[in-house]
Amino acid sequence: MNRLPHKPDASRIIHSMRILLVEDDPQIGSAIASALDDAGMAADWIEDGEAALASLDAGAFELVLLDIGLPKRDGLSVLRQIRQQQNSVPVIIITARDAVEDRIAGLDLGADDYLVKPFSVGELMARLRAVARRHGGNAQPLLSNGDITLNPADKSASYLNTELVLTGKEYRLLHALLVTPGRLFSREELEEKVYSWEEEVSSNAIEFLIHGLRLKTDKSAIKNVRGLGWMVPKND
Ligand code: CA
Repeated sequence: MNRLPHKPDASRIIHSMRILLVEDDPQIGSAIASALDDAGMAADWIEDGEAALASLDAGAFELVLLDIGLPKRDGLSVLRQIRQQQNSVPVIIITARDAVEDRIAGLDLGADDYLVKPFSVGELMARLRAVARRHGGNAQPLLSNGDITLNPADKSASYLNTELVLTGKEYRLLHALLVTPGRLFSREELEEKVYSWEEEVSSNAIEFLIHGLRLKTDKSAIKNVRGLGWMVPKND
């Protein structure tokens, strides 16, 4: 199976998304989480509204799938808080079929789209692609250092002006490093940016990804400071 398209397309855009899934129904939650996982996305699944806000404070997510009926704090209140904090992360709300008012309230509060339960995996993926495309159209600056350039809008990468084909994890790792060239990142910091919470991370996983990135670019593209971490040497 060819998973390496030549041009950035929608499937590739969502391939490397980090998604926060907030859903208290164990059956629906695990079905969505495994569908996202199958699609190669890093999904963190949590089950109440307060934990959702704490997660958003702690981590960078590219999209939130938000159920409305949640313990501790309902989804609409979570959404209101997200937007009050000037956080523009795309949010897709998940509502019950008869909850038209919730859908209207959610859209009024700044949700980007909604899904009505029960929905198919195909519909979920189509909504994710649509939201990713719309947000991909936002002006997001290119991240560039030396010969490497990342385009966060379509998750593409290039090295020496040639397209660089990266896995989702490689992209997230390189993105983390390129946001601040010259800054040293510890293993824990990088693991947090690349993996979701449930994922088993082997002790040399980051080394493995960095080895792959060096092979695809240059040996000196990512520098290791023994015992401390990694950085992209600042290079204009
Ligand atoms: Ca619920």
